[in-house]
Amino acid sequence: MDIFSKVSGYTAARDAMAAGIYPYFLPLTGNEGTTVTLGDRELVMCGSNNYLGLTADPRVKQAAIRAVEQFGTSCTGSRFLNGNLALHDQLEAELADFYGKPAAAVISTGYQANLGTISALAGRDDVVFADRAAHASIVDGGRLSDAKLRRFRHNDIPALDRALAAVPDGAGKLVVVDGVYSMEGDLCALPEIVEVCERRGARLVVDDAHGLGVLDKGRGTCSYFGLTDRVDLITVTFSKSLASLGGAVVGDEDVIHYLKHHARSLIFSASPTPASAASALAALRILREEPWRAERAQQNAEYMRAGLGQRGISPGESATPVIPLRTRGTIETIVLWRELIDAGVYTNPVLPPAASPRLRLSFMATHTTEHLDRVLDALGARAEHFLADDEPDVDDGY
Ligand code: PMP
Repeated sequence: MDIFSKVSGYTAARDAMAAGIYPYFLPLTGNEGTTVTLGDRELVMCGSNNYLGLTADPRVKQAAIRAVEQFGTSCTGSRFLNGNLALHDQLEAELADFYGKPAAAVISTGYQANLGTISALAGRDDVVFADRAAHASIVDGGRLSDAKLRRFRHNDIPALDRALAAVPDGAGKLVVVDGVYSMEGDLCALPEIVEVCERRGARLVVDDAHGLGVLDKGRGTCSYFGLTDRVDLITVTFSKSLASLGGAVVGDEDVIHYLKHHARSLIFSASPTPASAASALAALRILREEPWRAERAQQNAEYMRAGLGQRGISPGESATPVIPLRTRGTIETIVLWRELIDAGVYTNPVLPPAASPRLRLSFMATHTTEHLDRVLDALGARAEHFLADDEPDVDDGY
């Protein structure tokens, strides 16, 4: 059997390309944050995680430029060996301070932060518990570890409780959830999760990718619930509110020390580039100094949810700048996406197996009312043909 035989049988994407309705890997030629250029068109960007609009901020850009001038384009190696700059250590210190935790480890991406953290901590006799809607990097971290991986229904805490209770004595338990779910825009039930973890003796990791910069004046999901002290580890990405590329894990000093010597995705992969580290640090400082950005991102999302509601469109369970619009099926998703592109609006089509069909929209602090109204008008004119009427089952992780 030729291992490549699956390749020639994979035609779905090629068919869509031939039909001119392939919605992925779009080659943008310009990116101003709230708008992007595709071909000769300027589109309002509603498909990015740039929640605070800081990728276009001159201070963040200057920090990246200065870092390239000072340290060059790459660290050309792992932080463990030759690729650690004082800049990475500074970023760790400021992230730890921001979260009010003793220590942090900067890792090359948020994906790798989850991968390394989970697989380093959970061993053969342990069990990892992940919400069904948890991000792929959490699931992959569980798979990469030698531990058993158990998924529980989205935010179904009694189900988590039962699953934890069934673990044999002697097995370690690690619960991993998203603070804000990336495809739903809803929050984890953190107070209940913390209570169950404490009662069952499980350790808890919260992935704050979409909460950092957004909830609680930007301080994130754990702070929003006032529960930072009772969450063992927080994983972070720099590729959303921090307008950069990279990731980190934040927690107690001994855990971080262990991870820095056991997380393979940290030890065996090159460190964030000087430009990435410097821009993340600059964005973190701005995020702390300018809490209005988080509030504006949330106000813009609220404006959109209200506007969608007036047009009879459900924003799902969204409580953040991520708003899912349920579509009737795969074809409807693609056609709606394409019509929106033609109307000057960039959205993300999401299809199974990633999640049930939807357009994922996300909004920024820097979107203007004019941008938002343009999006609402474009959606309002098309909703009845493409969007689903019934409420979906949120329990569709990937
Ligand atoms: N966790 C969540 C919840 C995410 O949404 C993402 C990115 N989509 C990641 C982790 C991975 O982050 P990164 O882009 O830094 O790899």
